[in-house]
Amino acid sequence: MIPYGKHQIVDADIAAVVDVLENQFLTQGQMVPAFEQALCEYTQAKYCTAVNSGTSGLHVACLALGVGPGDWLWTSPNSFVASANCALYCGAKIDFVDIDPHTRNLDTDELAAKLQLAKREARLPKAIVVVHFAGLSCDMQAISALAREYDVKVIEDAAHGLGGFYKGRPIGSCQYSDIAVLSFHPVKSITTAEGGAVMTNDANLAERSVLFAKHGVTRDPDKLTEHHGPWYYQQHELGFNYRMSDIHAALGLSQLSRLASFITARKTLAHRYHKALAELPVQLPLPNDSTNDSSAWHLYMIELLSGDRKSVFEQLQSKGIGVNVHYIPIHLQPYYQRMGFTAGQFPCAEQFYQRAITLPLYPDLQIEQQDRVIQALREILK
Ligand SMILES: *Cc1c(COP(=O)(O)O)cnc(C)c1O
Repeated sequence: MIPYGKHQIVDADIAAVVDVLENQFLTQGQMVPAFEQALCEYTQAKYCTAVNSGTSGLHVACLALGVGPGDWLWTSPNSFVASANCALYCGAKIDFVDIDPHTRNLDTDELAAKLQLAKREARLPKAIVVVHFAGLSCDMQAISALAREYDVKVIEDAAHGLGGFYKGRPIGSCQYSDIAVLSFHPVKSITTAEGGAVMTNDANLAERSVLFAKHGVTRDPDKLTEHHGPWYYQQHELGFNYRMSDIHAALGLSQLSRLASFITARKTLAHRYHKALAELPVQLPLPNDSTNDSSAWHLYMIELLSGDRKSVFEQLQSKGIGVNVHYIPIHLQPYYQRMGFTAGQFPCAEQFYQRAITLPLYPDLQIEQQDRVIQALREILK
């Protein structure tokens, strides 16, 4: 079976992890700050807090921005449930903005219209979580202009985006957002097994991210209201233990050194899909590979323009092709339906879900394997 996504582990990754196990602190050592520094250098963001998952990162981002009970948070329905759950963790309310069927990202015109209406009804969101779906950046300039106009905070769910570029800057730079959150789950651009990071250019948000990721506890002498001695710490917020371990950070640091080659391999494979599938009755992702704007190619998703998706999916599976579907719109999940969301509310995300199939795409996917995928699709769709 050819999987839809797969990490790459080489001897250097293993050596980096073993070195921590044999010689270093397992947690709260030197590897986490080294990984954080390297992520700042890569993304050009000023501050980084490594955490134990992208989901924890989204939670921390919301907490750092002060999202809480009574607030609204908006996101894209075409995402993993974590993009919305982070609001609910904070006791905030959630709503969605439909996607643009071409980019498959949150539609900025829809966002503008919804913000205008929400302003009139005095229920503007505190923050929006924008998702760079499949590695293609959202229209961050337009989003940040709207966010400024309506005084809304912007969190980038950049779980798919590491390695992509927007207007010449790496995704994760936070040039047009308050915070960007990365994920290092094994199917993502680089892996730490489980892990994530909170990026920001704002010193105060960075400080709050660290605080919420580490129990809400501080040892900073300037922050303490009393000074009992060198052992002393204070809890100032209800934080969590979302720390990344040094074992995970060592893996991440080693992986990060190969990120550029991972993205090059993904890009090459994506171009091969574009060419090979152009004649089939499918809608392909936007090519989006100018020098300044390039996808991280986290996923390669086709949309069937005819035929039965389930049948095509099953036929591909039976030929050993590990296809997948991203995503079941969040508002159609039973948990969200219980909150009052219904089918038909976000038609573009729903239509995308009806027609979409995720094809295998990862750096180690071999040309012969990709040709098997292409051949299988041609046979099924002809
Ligand atoms: C993977 C993913 C997450 C969650 O990241 P984890 O590291 O698995 O917790 C959040 N949002 C999106 C869009 C993702 O793909």
